[in-house]
Amino acid sequence: MMLCLCSTLPPQIPKPTHLDHATSQNHHLKQARALLIKTNAPLSHVDLAHVPAIVPWNSCLKFFAERGAPCDTISLFLRLRQLSILPDHFTCSFLLKACTISSDIVTGRIIHAYVQKLGFQSNLILQNMLLHLYASCGETSHARLMFDKMPQQDVATWNIMIGHLISAGDVGAARDLFDSMPRRNVRSWTSVISGLAKCGMSEEALRVFSEMEREGSRPNEVTVVAVLVACAQLGDLEFGKSIHRFAEGNGFLRNVYVCNALIDMYVKCGCLEEGCRVFDGMRERTVVSWSSMIVGFAMHGEGEKGLELYEEMIRSGMKPNHVTFIGVLHACSHVGLVDKGREFFTIMRRDYGIVPGVEHYGCLVDLLSRAGRLEEAREVIANMSVPPNGVVWGALLGGCRLHKNIKLAEEAMRHLSELDPLNDGYYVVMSNVYAEAGKWEEVSRIRRSMKSRGVKKTQGCSSITIDGVVHEFVAGDETHPQAKGIFEMWEKLLVKMKMKGYIPDTSVVLLDMEDEQKEIFLYRHSEKLALVYGLINTKPGMPIRIMKNLRVCEDCHTAFKLVSEIENREIVVRDRNRFHCFKNGACTCKDYW
Ligand code: ZN
Ligand code: ZN
Repeated sequence: MMLCLCSTLPPQIPKPTHLDHATSQNHHLKQARALLIKTNAPLSHVDLAHVPAIVPWNSCLKFFAERGAPCDTISLFLRLRQLSILPDHFTCSFLLKACTISSDIVTGRIIHAYVQKLGFQSNLILQNMLLHLYASCGETSHARLMFDKMPQQDVATWNIMIGHLISAGDVGAARDLFDSMPRRNVRSWTSVISGLAKCGMSEEALRVFSEMEREGSRPNEVTVVAVLVACAQLGDLEFGKSIHRFAEGNGFLRNVYVCNALIDMYVKCGCLEEGCRVFDGMRERTVVSWSSMIVGFAMHGEGEKGLELYEEMIRSGMKPNHVTFIGVLHACSHVGLVDKGREFFTIMRRDYGIVPGVEHYGCLVDLLSRAGRLEEAREVIANMSVPPNGVVWGALLGGCRLHKNIKLAEEAMRHLSELDPLNDGYYVVMSNVYAEAGKWEEVSRIRRSMKSRGVKKTQGCSSITIDGVVHEFVAGDETHPQAKGIFEMWEKLLVKMKMKGYIPDTSVVLLDMEDEQKEIFLYRHSEKLALVYGLINTKPGMPIRIMKNLRVCEDCHTAFKLVSEIENREIVVRDRNRFHCFKNGACTCKDYW
């Protein structure tokens, strides 16, 4: 009945050197070591009468499997089979573990056959391990079939299947399975919440979390991290704060992952001070904690503070990683420290051996382009060690617009229309370049080429959260239930803004229409609608937080500065790239964005 493995046997079993450390403590391992030495000879020389039964072999297999030495586990197993020793269910479990670690589905199938033939079909632990093995080796349909046919299942079985569906990107199927689970534990809840958050379905993730609370299941540290990821994506500060309180009350702040997730959430929700507070209170920090803070300072236009923190990090003995340098380069970029940025680019390679990735090049090109050093930026792109992507050329294009260089802009656009042909943002910038130079024929050529390629203009969309409810506004929206109130309030604000010298900047509107229409169009930008809605629906003096899917245009930027002064409000806008914090008529980006 045994499978014959002799033909695949390796000549030697592993040398027992790995065992030195543990032998003194473990009787079985001592035995195992002796047996390894005894049996590590050609088969004809082994005295089969003195080969021990399975128990010491299992100790040895367990030892290898738990220390992440799958090859040693498997070759030791092959040897024991060669000596005709019968495996038991422990043997199978150690082998399945080794196969899963090494994604060795071929050996895994052999072990599966052993499980069947030795009559371990009703051993749920082994069945779960097999399910996990098939799933993690990418044998999705096999895993699903096995799951559906399993005579017995427990919560772990369901969790394995759900976890696998999520990592395979099939969140819908995972959710269906989750909904039909007979019993759920904290792990089930957590994997669904984290899966939803990872694929951008953050609102749904928070809904599932609330359901979890209602059902009385207790979140753990991993759940808290997953929920914070969702809050960060949504920019939902209030929810994030409530999770912070919960984590604090349950002693989770000792966990460095929880603290890192809190920092990330606060930074992405535009609340840098709270992020700093969490960071300062940490007893132990990882490179992620430092990097998140540096990136946070950069995104909030506090590049100098970001760089100071970098120096402090180096002094503390922490080694920076590639994310740290993305933060540092961003910090330089957002405050226009061009030479400092170039220096960091060198330091990164020379002192820390970090090979620059396309993101680092993106930052460097952005830094140079914005400072008007366009030829230098072009030079950097030409000498990149990785192929440039849309972000890199896009950064050059943005710089060309700022510094009115049509020739280089056209070159960048040629690459962009191949690399990222459906991204409307680049066409808009290019047509701005032409429009600002008065080249109207070229503007309409761009518009025609957008049409013929089927490029759709992404609609501006802004959201504001008030009392836990997210309110979304799209550009031009006149159908909102409070639309009348919003437009009346805007008109009043407009009068005060104009007294302070506001002139609507219709150059950001590209459509062929009369100037008067263009103004109305401009006044219906989504972030303006969200701002006025916020002014009406929150108490005077309360800060207003808005999230936008695109970059803020120049006109909205000017308007927001004035409104922050007129209404005496702090207005925080998170756009696609960074934060703008408007206060007393100025923005933290110092108009450099
Ligand atoms: Zn705007
Ligand atoms: Zn700004």
